[in-house]
Amino acid sequence: MIFKQLFDTRSSTYTYLISSGKGREALIIDPVIENVTEYINLLKELDLRLVKVIDTHIHADHVTGASKLKDITKCSTIMGAHTPAELVEIKVKDDQYIDVDNLKIRAMYTPGHTSDSYSFLMNNYLFSGDTLLINGTGRTDFQNGNAKDAYNSIFNKLLKLPEETLLYPAHDYKGEKVSTIGKEKKQNPRLQVSNADEYVEIMSNLNLSKPKLMDSNVSRNIKLGSN
Ligand code: FE
Repeated sequence: MIFKQLFDTRSSTYTYLISSGKGREALIIDPVIENVTEYINLLKELDLRLVKVIDTHIHADHVTGASKLKDITKCSTIMGAHTPAELVEIKVKDDQYIDVDNLKIRAMYTPGHTSDSYSFLMNNYLFSGDTLLINGTGRTDFQNGNAKDAYNSIFNKLLKLPEETLLYPAHDYKGEKVSTIGKEKKQNPRLQVSNADEYVEIMSNLNLSKPKLMDSNVSRNIKLGSN
C-alpha cells in the first residue's frame, strides 16, 4: 500500500494520499487548496491517478482543494450524506463503503464537531477528521456542532473500534502524527469523563476564539473550494 501523510503548516491540517498501488488509482482525504500543486507533483512522482477526493466535513480553518483537484484530474468528490455542499458528486451514508484501487473505506457518520462530520475507516486506519484528535477532540461551538452528539460519536462509535486501530486526525498542533484508539482511551484528557454531561461541561467551557477567515472559508468550502 502507498500511504502519505502531508502537512499544511498554515492550518496544521493533515492530508492523506492513499493507494493500494495495484491499479495505480489514488484517493486523497482533506486536501488544502494551497497545496494542490504539491499533490499533483506527488501523484506524478508515484505514478498514480487520482480518482477520488474526500472531505471529512466542511472545514472552517482552510479552503479545501477538492474542486481544484477535480478540475485538474477529473476525480470524483465525496462527502458524507449530511453535507451542505451541493456540488459533491458522491454523498456516502453511514456504513457505506467506498472502493479505491482494491481498498475498501467505510464511511462512519460521526457528528458533533459539525453536523456533517464523517470519519473514514480503511482496514485499521481511522481518518477521524476533527471528531477525534490526538490528545484532544474537535470543538463543538459552531457549524451546528453539538457536544452531546460528539460524545456519542466518540464514545459509542470510534472508541468501540479495536484498541490497535491507528488514529489519523485532520489536524495536529503539536507535531503528533499518529496515535491509536487504545492510547487515546487512556491518555486523551477530554476522554477521561464518566458520562455525556461531563463531556458537555468540558466542551462548553473551552472559550476558544473563532478561526481566522472562518466565514469566508466555510462559504467557499460549501462550493468545494471554487470561487
Ligand atoms: Fe473542522
